[in-house]
Amino acid sequence: MTSTITPDARAITSQVDALRASYGSGRTRPLAWRRQQLAALDMLLVENGSDIEVAIGIDLGKHPLETHLAEIGTVRAEIELAMRNLEQWARPRTIEVGDALQPAQGFIQREPLGTVLIISPWNYPVHLLLMPCVGAIAAGNTVVLKPSELAPATSELMARLIPQYLDGSGVLVVEGGVEETTELLALPWDHIFYTGNGAVGRIVAAAAAKHLSPTTLELGGKSPVWIDSSADIDEAAHWLAWGKFANAGQTCVAPDYVMAPAAVVPSLVNALQREISALYGINPRESADLGRVVNRRHLDRLVGLLDGAIIAIGGDVDPEDRYLAPTVLTDVKPSDPVMAQEIFGPILPVMSVPTADAAIDYINAGDKPLAMYVFSGDEAVTNAFLARTSSGGVAINSVMIQIGVHDLPFGGVGESGNGAYHGEVTMRTFSHDRSVLVKGAGQNLMRFSEPPYTTEKEQML
Ligand code: NAD
Repeated sequence: MTSTITPDARAITSQVDALRASYGSGRTRPLAWRRQQLAALDMLLVENGSDIEVAIGIDLGKHPLETHLAEIGTVRAEIELAMRNLEQWARPRTIEVGDALQPAQGFIQREPLGTVLIISPWNYPVHLLLMPCVGAIAAGNTVVLKPSELAPATSELMARLIPQYLDGSGVLVVEGGVEETTELLALPWDHIFYTGNGAVGRIVAAAAAKHLSPTTLELGGKSPVWIDSSADIDEAAHWLAWGKFANAGQTCVAPDYVMAPAAVVPSLVNALQREISALYGINPRESADLGRVVNRRHLDRLVGLLDGAIIAIGGDVDPEDRYLAPTVLTDVKPSDPVMAQEIFGPILPVMSVPTADAAIDYINAGDKPLAMYVFSGDEAVTNAFLARTSSGGVAINSVMIQIGVHDLPFGGVGESGNGAYHGEVTMRTFSHDRSVLVKGAGQNLMRFSEPPYTTEKEQML
């Protein structure tokens, strides 16, 4: 059986060695093993749904239904997709071989990478741990999962449940924080899949470089929103209130800030007030549907961003409850602290920006975002954003739902990360597409290109 290992470097190394030996034995390669593990992972989610909801409730104050939809349901859908398509995704793909090599056959063999490490953050502590794990198992790897220490109840639950359901010689959970992750990162991996902030992303990339381990870096950043007067402002406000304040704004693809012409701002703020009340009531603090900020350190950071700001909506704080009301700021300037870094909390700054061109210039002057959102009824405007900016993903006239489409690869670009996953792309991320050429007996036209380079050969060209 799998067991959670102690935070001891030797124990970590020897358990990972055991996993590597298990991979070497071929145990995880058969599709039957992969299918059985995926089914077991699904069973874990089905049989322990309420424990997961309680744990995430403790860590983040998420409503059980939100956990059911955004954490359990999304991973189950990914498992179902992987199981349904496993044969097709794993199948060798025949390719055309040129005349000069005939007779010959060529194909691409999708093989697992080996032993892989998945490091996840606290904000969707089940989803972000298990979504990549689905593809890693589907591809036939052995896997080490490192949940976030900042969602301790969920980390402890995953470390307890995973060994009960999954094959311990295939999947291992290592709990812990910086010290344990540093131990893990010192080891050679066949792939490291990291989700979290860019500062740690750099630590992961540097550690991976020592062993030439490939990485996927799922990072964050400030995801901008543009709204112009041709948009349906009520509809835009609805999307924004949902996307910004779900999980108390602690979503990597949450709309970070809004740019809109000054004439649009008053009606947008009114509509946001209506939408926030519709979602969380007149006093959001009493709503069981609004999540909490993960810890005091993050709450203090967020409250600091309100210093000197013009608060149009919200702003109430209860440090004991890690509560920050859904908050909207107006008259925001690019030089304000709230515009300096990813907010990752329930604060929505609105900047008056006169034109789409000016908004595009502003986006292009910063890091490439993970997501970008455009609300406009004018196709020329949406096309201009698509043609002249870069981001991990884009949604037009909505927010966040692009990541729920499993055929759309989910990942960042530049500072928001590199590599992608979801659906078949996850399987590809954790596989190597190996080129295979099988030469048939008979003629070998390649002899023509070998020495001796005779005059006769020259004349044939
Ligand atoms: P976090 O603090 O939980 O850290 C992420 C992981 O890194 C944890 O497992 C942690 O133990 C490990 N870690 C932390 N410090 C480390 C160190 N010094 N050395 C080695 N490992 C270390 O989560 P976070 O970084 O606060 O997560 C929030 C960030 O993640 C935001 O920027 C958000 O946008 C981003 N994010 C991105 C995605 C995505 O899919 N692109 C999803 C969620 C969050």
